[in-house]
Amino acid sequence: MGERKVLNKYYPPDFDPAKLPRARRPKNQQIKVRMMLPMSIRCNTCGNYIYKGTKFNSRKEDVIGETYLGIQIFRFYFKCTKCSAELTMKTDPQNSDYVVESGATRNFEPWRAEDEEADGLKRKRESEEMGDAMKSLENRTLDSKREMDILAALDEMKSMKSRHATVTVDEMLAALQRTSDDKEKRLEEEDEALIKIRMILLEEFVMKILKRKRKRRFGFQMGTLKLPVLVQRDKSPPKNLAAKQPTH
Ligand SMILES: [Zn+2]
Repeated sequence: MGERKVLNKYYPPDFDPAKLPRARRPKNQQIKVRMMLPMSIRCNTCGNYIYKGTKFNSRKEDVIGETYLGIQIFRFYFKCTKCSAELTMKTDPQNSDYVVESGATRNFEPWRAEDEEADGLKRKRESEEMGDAMKSLENRTLDSKREMDILAALDEMKSMKSRHATVTVDEMLAALQRTSDDKEKRLEEEDEALIKIRMILLEEFVMKILKRKRKRRFGFQMGTLKLPVLVQRDKSPPKNLAAKQPTH
């Protein structure tokens, strides 16, 4: 069973690989490749939108005489899904992307425009600085200034955030204050009640002494005589303390 599928091949003793005929491939040979569209495009013929990720069969070929840093650029021929018009696109190794060559237009992608703008600025700056020490110094100074501005803005944002955080702490403190205030108020009320009771007791004590004095002087009790009122007496003293009042 082991020899059923042999992978090694027999080479006769007179085998010479140099004698093999070279397979001559034409330079613009096309290979069939099934792939997916790397970007959304619109057909110029029928106006049909073909979306990114659409699968299609294409013919791939080398773009003759076009390389980027020694990397071969490829061209793909494919057809519109609606009108079958031939569309072509190329690889773009410089931007690690693809470019539509003919038959269609690429849909607008805002991030791509941004990238292009940034690239353009960078290139412009480089060309300006080429051999101009003063300009490069100027640019670097501007860069550091911008960086400092950014840091300042960041600091400001941080402090704003911390300010927001302290608001909640303040609220917490206020809540604590409120509870302690309530406690104090309750204590004060209790104190007041105690003072009132003491005054009542004192008043009654004074009245008792006065009554006793009058009784000794006049030999009878003057029930009708108005006695000096020390404190406006509360008609209903607290129940629990009423029990403590001395009985006469
Ligand atoms: Zn079309």
